[in-house]
Amino acid sequence: MTSNVRFGPAGNPLGYRGETVSVCNYIRKKGLDAYEYQATYGVRISKQSALKLKKNSKKNDVIISMHAPYYINLSSNKDDVIERSIQRLIQSAKAAEWMNAYRIVFHPGFYTKYTPTEAMMKLHSAINVLNEKLESMGVSNYTFAPETTGKKSQLGSLEEIIEICRTHENFTPTIDFAHLHARSGGGIKSKEDYGIIFEKLEEGLGLKSLHSHFTNIEFTDKGERRHHALFEYSYGPPLEPLLEEIAERGWNVTVICETPRLDEDALLMQKAYNNILKN
Ligand SMILES: [Zn+2]
Repeated sequence: MTSNVRFGPAGNPLGYRGETVSVCNYIRKKGLDAYEYQATYGVRISKQSALKLKKNSKKNDVIISMHAPYYINLSSNKDDVIERSIQRLIQSAKAAEWMNAYRIVFHPGFYTKYTPTEAMMKLHSAINVLNEKLESMGVSNYTFAPETTGKKSQLGSLEEIIEICRTHENFTPTIDFAHLHARSGGGIKSKEDYGIIFEKLEEGLGLKSLHSHFTNIEFTDKGERRHHALFEYSYGPPLEPLLEEIAERGWNVTVICETPRLDEDALLMQKAYNNILKN
């Protein structure tokens, strides 16, 4: 089995000073082949720019994903918050279609005063509204990719993400391994621990390909606290066992680097992966 594994930064590379529409030239020159466009503080890109970015990504064979705004809560107890969250996802879907982003990554919501089951019910009905609206607007070329979240107050355990994606068409997971590590109080220690995650995805959704995030992460008993660079590996989760697992499984995986060193660490991940393939 040969996997097609791509690596790239979450957002513009550290040393990049050019326009976002041509960022894929720089990413490809560095030897990377993925890019997650950050709309984390709002979808602000124009249609014209998004189309330029699409062209640039095709020219360089750099796959694009989009991170939707952080401020999304589809399981809120306030109707206006749900409504605004749906609007942000609609804007994201439109922009994703323009730039040909293959995934729209988003954090689904918070439990707030709800039990996890109640929060999931809220979320399902909000997603139904979202899908109906997109259909009525003629937006059809999108894949939402709800992300496993890092705080225990956030909806987004592995099981919840699998359930969301099993229920709704055009939904597939983003697995943030660091978030799973933080949520479980440092639960990812070995290749077997990664293997269990891949098994659940395969059993629950029949997946053979995956969009993912990786960083080293500091956490408290509430979950995620801060992202750290690869050289601060004592925070975990361990990188090498993940790369070994990917290499053995033969899945197509995109690994977006979310450390503070972005493209620099993405290159180190890629190097580590290539070393595993050689051995
Ligand atoms: Zn992430």
